[in-house]
Amino acid sequence: MPRVRNLDIVSEARLIYAFDGIKKDVMRVAALEPILEAVSKTAQEDLSVPRLFDMTVSALRHADSADAEKSPLLCAAYLLKLFAVMGVRPSFHTCVTCGREIPLGSVHHVPAHGEVSAGAGTAEETRRFSFSGGGVVCDQCMLSEPTTAISAQTLVWSDALLHMTFDQVVECNCDLNRTFDILKFCQTWLQTNLAIRSKSLDFLFKSGLF
Ligand SMILES: [Zn+2]
Repeated sequence: MPRVRNLDIVSEARLIYAFDGIKKDVMRVAALEPILEAVSKTAQEDLSVPRLFDMTVSALRHADSADAEKSPLLCAAYLLKLFAVMGVRPSFHTCVTCGREIPLGSVHHVPAHGEVSAGAGTAEETRRFSFSGGGVVCDQCMLSEPTTAISAQTLVWSDALLHMTFDQVVECNCDLNRTFDILKFCQTWLQTNLAIRSKSLDFLFKSGLF
């Protein structure tokens, strides 16, 4: 058996924020567990990443005080921001193969104050997307790149959430169906680009809580 050489001694611990709103609500717990699972599988022991810590605390504090229905959207926004912090941010506007600009067309409406026009685009409008390639793929390159059709609205919302503050996320009016489409997008991205199979997202999708 190998000898354990690095057992740190914890001499003092202090509770700074109790997150009582989350702990007492099964909906919040189910929707926020993917945050804890993802960060625990991406953060490295003994490697301090203040930005990641601050982002995680901020997402949880917003979820703690906002309506429980906002927790899945906060989770989706957090996961998208986590991808950026980990260096695997999806490309939403530029073909990952040739670099051509891919306009999101009529769905690309992100007004001020962090709100996205609910009426923009249609559910049927899609873009070709490569999870292994890292983002959207143009019509020419899709012939040589394996792609999946993703709703343009899901992509434009994902891009918007990536750039919003958590204050703006809580205020914006993304509907629950769209939120869960984004979470499913995040689940595939987690698995493809960070090798994380999120069991807590599986549970959230099957729980029937939302
Ligand atoms: Zn291309």
